[in-house]
Amino acid sequence: MSRIASVEPIVLKIPFSDGGAGVGIMPNKWTNLEFVLVKVTTDDGLVGWGEGFAYFCAASVAAAVRDMVAPVVVGQKADDPAAINLALQRRLHLHGRYGITIFAISGLDIALWDLAGKRAGKSVARLIGGRKRESITAYASLMRYGDPALVEKFSAKAAGEGFNDVKLHEIARDTIGAGRKGAGPKVRLTTDINCNWSIAETEAIMPFLKEIDLFWLEEPIFPPEDWDALKALGRFGISISAGENACTAMEFSHLVQAVTYPQPSVTKVGGITEAIAVCDIAARAGKTVMPHSPYFGPGYWATLQLAAARTEVALFEYLYVDLDALIDESLPRPQKGQLAIPDLPGIGCTPDPKAIERYRVG
Ligand SMILES: [Mg+2]
Repeated sequence: MSRIASVEPIVLKIPFSDGGAGVGIMPNKWTNLEFVLVKVTTDDGLVGWGEGFAYFCAASVAAAVRDMVAPVVVGQKADDPAAINLALQRRLHLHGRYGITIFAISGLDIALWDLAGKRAGKSVARLIGGRKRESITAYASLMRYGDPALVEKFSAKAAGEGFNDVKLHEIARDTIGAGRKGAGPKVRLTTDINCNWSIAETEAIMPFLKEIDLFWLEEPIFPPEDWDALKALGRFGISISAGENACTAMEFSHLVQAVTYPQPSVTKVGGITEAIAVCDIAARAGKTVMPHSPYFGPGYWATLQLAAARTEVALFEYLYVDLDALIDESLPRPQKGQLAIPDLPGIGCTPDPKAIERYRVG
């Protein structure tokens, strides 16, 4: 029985370009994607890789992995990710159940599932219910441009590359309309408000969103966990989605009744373990899962494994940016909107030591 010998957070910062000004979604100008890789090594030398949510919080998440997670799990048996996840949640709940704490636990959990797959010589999908499909439809998730001309340009570009689904992060009528113009009438168009609107603002714009045939409206209001208000917004006939800011299956047990599309994020919700539980909840409620996955590290690979095993998952979120480098160049990319799902041991991601060396921070 192998035991966890070390848990190491590794922070990377990789520049990206999106053709825009990088403003609006995050606290400051957004020009680098940050990663908190979680490297777990067992006493018999096996290595697993995970990722905790890191955008604009990488140092905090890395500290939580190092100071809160590692001391609890080093020396423990590595073979039961769900048991370790639960033990961590119980030991760390007094630091706040969600946010940084659960991002760190998520990274550890993904690494333990990766290890479990590698030990079994099977992909994680095969461990968590079987491989139900070989590929998944991806949607192009555009950054916020805040400029109608740029929104139109990049929506048209994504549609031209064969994406049948385009998601904007636009929050104004003119830029959302520009997305429809660029994507054309056949593409399914969604927009993500990242909680910027009031209930009254959301109600006022709903007729326009109907008119441009919006597929779903994501996180329109603040706070994101106002499930009752989200549910009431469903009366306008446009699907509401939310969930990237919900953590653990417990929060999703409330959320699932409020939205058409629950959106767990594997690096935030509590890793693969909690994402599986969210799929179970969605299945019981008859809901389709639209995972949040704007990542290029182990979070991307883990989401693909979840999608392979769980038919509740419908679309893969592909962040539509150009990254300077990938930590694993074999990362499958969408081709005409379709993403091939790897069937390698674990989650399938093998970070390149040279990339780690080059982009490592601290
Ligand atoms: Mg979102």
